[in-house]
Amino acid sequence: PTQRFGVVTLFPEMFEPFLNQGVFGRAVRNGIIQVDIFNPRDYTTDKHRTVDDRPYGGGPGMLMMVQPLTDAISDAKIALGENSLVVYLTPQGKTLNQTAVQSFTQLPNIILVAGRYEGIDERVINALVDQEWSIGDYVLSGGELPAMVLMDSVSRLLPDVLGHSQSAVEDSFTNGLLDCPHYTRPDVLNGEAVPSVLLSGNHEKIRQWRLTKALERTLERRPDLLNYLALTEEQQKILSQ
Ligand code: SAM
Repeated sequence: PTQRFGVVTLFPEMFEPFLNQGVFGRAVRNGIIQVDIFNPRDYTTDKHRTVDDRPYGGGPGMLMMVQPLTDAISDAKIALGENSLVVYLTPQGKTLNQTAVQSFTQLPNIILVAGRYEGIDERVINALVDQEWSIGDYVLSGGELPAMVLMDSVSRLLPDVLGHSQSAVEDSFTNGLLDCPHYTRPDVLNGEAVPSVLLSGNHEKIRQWRLTKALERTLERRPDLLNYLALTEEQQKILSQ
């Protein structure tokens, strides 16, 4: 495979629909992506298969029990290789963005640790985790959805995952801008006509229109994005009009 993911999770079933459907499912079937799941519950030694433990200092909530978790992560490292990147999904991590997603495509072996309960012991993070990433400033009940968000966003940038008809090159953030608006049939919908330039067949005019709209949108909705962008001469000209 081009990209291997190991996922450490107490809820492997959550990944089943995701791993089998759509663009990601096809990439798995085509062998471009491989996903292996490591469930801490399979590494328990007591008859109740306990995976949670009480926090020192008391208070509400539990933590993931250290031994099953560390054994699952260690096994993932054996399977994917000692040089794998171990990522813990946590609201305390750096916020994921398209630049980070792009950089993950350069790392062929990534282990994603999905937390549950109130999270994991700080010493497990110190010993086994290379990077901590968040998917946004809100709290979920587990790291499974964040792990899927990361895998999905990375997968669509890998070669041969998207067909030509769904190419990622014009997507928002790919060139630092939001995407332009899109139109399909009918010509007129709710009294609103498709911009005539899109019916003109003039590819250069269409390209210029799309770039203009992308710049307008970004200026209107996400002016912060323009601060980091080295604008081309053409983009500067459009913005100054
Ligand atoms: N007590 C933790 C805190 O405030 O930082 C939150 C624990 S949360 C209820 C349980 C798990 O969900 C976390 O260990 C983490 O793996 C995951 N999680 C929750 N929100 C997340 C986010 N925004 N990004 C990534 N992972 C998140």
